[in-house]
Amino acid sequence: MTFSIHGLAVARGIAIGRAVLVASSRVDVAHYFIESEQVGREIDRVRRGRDAVVEEIHRLQQTITQLGPKDAPHELKALLDVHLMLLQDEEMVEGVKHWIRDRLYNAEWALTTQLETIARQFDEMEDEYLRERKSDLEQITEKVLRAMQGQPTTGLPQAAPAGRKAPSSELQLEDTDVPLVLVAHEISPADMLQFKQGVFAGFVTDVGGKTSHTAIVARSMDIPAVVGARTASQLVRQDDWLIIDGDAGVVIVDPSPIILAEYHYKQRQLDVERSRLARLLNTPAVTLDGQKVELLANIEMPEDALAAVKTGAVGVGLFRSEFLFMGRQGHLPDEQEQYQAYRRAIEGMGGLPVTIRTVDIGADKPMDGAFVEGSYLNPALGLRAIRWSLADPAMFLTQLRAILRAAAHGPVKMMIPMLAHLSEIRQTLALVEQARQELQREGLPFGAAEIGAMIEIPAAALTLRTFLRHFDFLSLGTNDLIQYTLAIDRADESVAHLYDPLHPAVLRLVADTIAECRAQGKPVSVCGEMAGDTAMTRLLLGLGLRCFSMHPAQIPAVKQEVLRADTGRLQPWAQAVLAADEPASLLPG
Ligand code: PEP
Ligand code: MG
Repeated sequence: MTFSIHGLAVARGIAIGRAVLVASSRVDVAHYFIESEQVGREIDRVRRGRDAVVEEIHRLQQTITQLGPKDAPHELKALLDVHLMLLQDEEMVEGVKHWIRDRLYNAEWALTTQLETIARQFDEMEDEYLRERKSDLEQITEKVLRAMQGQPTTGLPQAAPAGRKAPSSELQLEDTDVPLVLVAHEISPADMLQFKQGVFAGFVTDVGGKTSHTAIVARSMDIPAVVGARTASQLVRQDDWLIIDGDAGVVIVDPSPIILAEYHYKQRQLDVERSRLARLLNTPAVTLDGQKVELLANIEMPEDALAAVKTGAVGVGLFRSEFLFMGRQGHLPDEQEQYQAYRRAIEGMGGLPVTIRTVDIGADKPMDGAFVEGSYLNPALGLRAIRWSLADPAMFLTQLRAILRAAAHGPVKMMIPMLAHLSEIRQTLALVEQARQELQREGLPFGAAEIGAMIEIPAAALTLRTFLRHFDFLSLGTNDLIQYTLAIDRADESVAHLYDPLHPAVLRLVADTIAECRAQGKPVSVCGEMAGDTAMTRLLLGLGLRCFSMHPAQIPAVKQEVLRADTGRLQPWAQAVLAADEPASLLPG
């Protein structure tokens, strides 16, 4: 039966494919595709994890037997039997093998997918007693996952005893040419990055706001995505046919042939539009009244430089260096590794400037799925970005040295996130100076790098003079500026309707920052998502902005807006928007 799920539109376009569900687990699980030669190894990893848990259960059983019938709880003994049976259930085992062998999922992903498949069958059972077996299955799966990660698996089972076998999963979809659409409760930015290799035609998540970092990575991949779809991962089943309408923020499940035909048509139209825009590649971004506009790229990995150049970016305005720090089990990249990564990005841009932002870990960008220690109460207000860097000067110095060394290979700018205090500015600049002196003393080649600050906390926007005195350039991080001005968690879909780039307070901070920078001749850009939103291009041009940094895929459409704009006419209109109680009412569409 066809039904639709509504969420937030994140990345444009239409995807049609079959659902791949990523189950959420209490154990942090990596999701990635393996090579076909690695199938045997992954199956072995699951087997070893399972054997370790079986052994542990046998040990527990022995202990219980030694206790004697009086002290050994009968229920516990029966429950251990159930766990053993579930662990050795052939169909559970075969299901896991299927995901590894036929879909090339890594071992952990295969295990959680199979858990999800079987758990749903338990949910649908009438018999309450059988339904309760789901938690047994979850417990043993988590134990196997822990065993695979070398973590302790000990702990007594907690559910009531049972004695029946788990039902088998019913798996189909052997056709590997069918486009796949990822559906998950939540995908961490680091996991999203793993999927950048282009295996999925679209993404749907239950949680997340439009400018959550997961959404940002999805957008950078230029494939349709919907976030904040609330119960999507419970309503959609493995292998369901799905349409993702990334423009409307809608997911259509099990579409009828008429709906499918309509969306296939829309897909073709979008392709035509894309090729039309691609023809603007070599057209300089100049407005009708001759104003030159710089269109820069936001990138997450050095390899993204290729897409940046291909779409006509004239430099990188934001390299989110924190993606080099994620998914490494706390093992941070050393100076050499960072230097090589920055160098690859610089060389990839072939002489165009690259702005490397120092690490912005924290809030919705945890390093390894877990939040930064001590910031769990309110991570967006906690030890994030420059605060985290200054809390660990040795780590920060390593990054600063790597950036300065990479600057010997091409034009580099360094940008600092989330500054608010003069003391932070002073500490940061002192550490940059220290890094320079160290490199000089050691005789290592390094380059000059301009230093800029992100204006993304209202306090920074309101004390702009201090920033203008200390930095070579500024960049408005509107994603955070909106979050902190309106007190709206950018990653929380339940308040996403209040996350408003056109709120008069936000526009005031943006407009004043641009105006003050222009008045002092200081370069200023916008590198938040606002810069890549074509609905905002004219307003930002009217407010005096001449430098926009966005996902490479957004550059052609924004360029088209620039080519059609006359800043002389936009200026008075932008002032009227700025003065309005409801600025959105003055914007076209
Ligand atoms: C921003 O806050 O607008 C920004 C560009 O940084 P990030 O999205 O990585 O927080
Ligand atoms: Mg930010």
